[in-house]
Amino acid sequence: MVCDKQQADMEVDVIISGCGPVGALTCNLLGSLGVRTLVLEQDLAPHGQPRAFSCDDEALRIYQATGLGPELQKDMRENRFAEYVGETGKRFAEVHTGTADFGFGYSPLWFFHQPLVEGVLRDGMARFPHVKLQVGAGVEALEQDGTGVTVRYRLSQTGEVRTVRGRYLLACDGARSGVRKALGIKMSGKAYGEPWLAVSGRVEGDAPELCRFVCDPNRPAFVATGAVGQFRWEFMLMPGETREEMERPETIKKLLAPYIDPERVHVERAQVYTFHCLNAARWRDGNVFLLGDAAHTMPPFMGQGLVSGMRDASNLAWKIQRVVRGLAPASLLDTYEEERRPHVEAVQKLCVRVGHLFLARNSWVAGARDMVMRALQRIPRVRRFIQDFEFKQPPMHERGYYLGGGHTSESPEGTFFIQPKVRLPTGQEVLLDDAIGNDFAVLCRANAPAAQVAAARGLAEALGGRLLAVQSTGVDGGDVPAVEDITGKLGDWFSRHDSDVVVLRPDRFVFGAVKAERLPELRDALGV
Ligand SMILES: Cc1cc2nc3c(=O)[nH]c(=O)nc-3n(C[C@H](O)[C@H](O)[C@H](O)COP(=O)(O)OP(=O)(O)OC[C@H]3O[C@@H](n4cnc5c(N)ncnc54)[C@H](O)[C@@H]3O)c2cc1C
Repeated sequence: MVCDKQQADMEVDVIISGCGPVGALTCNLLGSLGVRTLVLEQDLAPHGQPRAFSCDDEALRIYQATGLGPELQKDMRENRFAEYVGETGKRFAEVHTGTADFGFGYSPLWFFHQPLVEGVLRDGMARFPHVKLQVGAGVEALEQDGTGVTVRYRLSQTGEVRTVRGRYLLACDGARSGVRKALGIKMSGKAYGEPWLAVSGRVEGDAPELCRFVCDPNRPAFVATGAVGQFRWEFMLMPGETREEMERPETIKKLLAPYIDPERVHVERAQVYTFHCLNAARWRDGNVFLLGDAAHTMPPFMGQGLVSGMRDASNLAWKIQRVVRGLAPASLLDTYEEERRPHVEAVQKLCVRVGHLFLARNSWVAGARDMVMRALQRIPRVRRFIQDFEFKQPPMHERGYYLGGGHTSESPEGTFFIQPKVRLPTGQEVLLDDAIGNDFAVLCRANAPAAQVAAARGLAEALGGRLLAVQSTGVDGGDVPAVEDITGKLGDWFSRHDSDVVVLRPDRFVFGAVKAERLPELRDALGV
């Protein structure tokens, strides 16, 4: 179907197809960077269904970048402990998520209620006059040329057909992405196969706080206390069981009974899902990019489906802003898939591996698994690896837009920078990102010679970002904006990486960290 670019009803920098959580987040990130954005959502109202249930420290840091962090966090529950139990109900592994600390400013496991999160994200979009959400607008066709994309959509209430022209189109339209299909991009990977019944609801009266993976071959299940009084129970369907029978209220009561008195439960939603582990053959076609479930899907065992889409948004939004503003060449956008795909594939592999552990096929295998897991954890290093959640895939890029091309075992480039608390000259203590803003940031050791601080300042100005001097004690309102490193973690970081200056990308990944005399090299690599 042809879309006439001459007759577009509207022109923007970015069109987003789909206002699920990934589309809404991307729109907030673009909005806060001043990018003119139109979001087209086929449904008239948010779907209001709790699907995603947990997120991690990286997700919270991304929410923080939208300026909506505190509002979103107030309705979340920090989960401090997760356990894996076998067929007999005896625990064979535990993860201390309350004390595990990857240094990014938050603990690594949070539960949320998806309708509330989506509500806050949608309200957040209204902060930006250059952003518009059009609901009841289903994307029907697109056409690309060398300078942009023309999209045709239909308003469901009137049947009216409109066109919009944008420099870029971001497909955030979910696992069945119409944009992806229109571009002929195939999904490949594994249809995971096992259907699960997900039950969400509330419990009357007191209920214990828990997060339990029930690795019982007779009925694998996940049971957890969620946010804002919500509970989640997930049960794997066994051979021969049907969707219809599993979604019946009497079946649900029977399934809940081992965990809670079903009479105290108000079920809000119970639906069977089949999870897949798939990846789009490519995440880009010209000026169209795929994000979130449109690009990749994964089993839920690590709660990483939505979080992966959030990482996509955080990676791509600032790159698009810089290209749209003429601050970077369009080739910067090639690094989106280059950086994100290997990470997604690693997370998918991990989810499948955890799934195998979770889903032992028979009592014999399950019993052996429980025994081996207990025995292995007598080795302190293995116990720490499990309890401290070290098996989680760390956020890092081996290739991409970095000094030297990406992360190696010797270099911090391509890693997610730490986010300790710092003290501002006003005396206020804040998380680091709140002191450095949403653009590029240059941090330097306060004791660096004046000429090198001046060079770092020049670099920050050329990038359009902020320079911050990191002082180990005390902080004044001097010539160079400074923060006090109250935890000592920033100083340790500089020492560990033998550097005086670090440049952070807007998504908080380390572009480069160097001794002060190598600043010109850093500047060259940044092309400013
Ligand atoms: C039971 C369950 C439990 C899960 N648990 C977790 C978890 O704990 N943690 C986690 O991180 N993830 C979890 N996930 C995965 C998570 O829900 C998804 O990864 C996430 O919702 C994907 O978001 P999205 O915005 O990419 O896509 P979607 O949420 O599918 O949103 C796509 C949007 O695009 C719109 N759209 C589609 N086509 C068009 C069109 N042609 N025009 C305009 N609009 C269109 C749709 O109406 C929709 O609003 C779970 C999923 C399920 C089903």
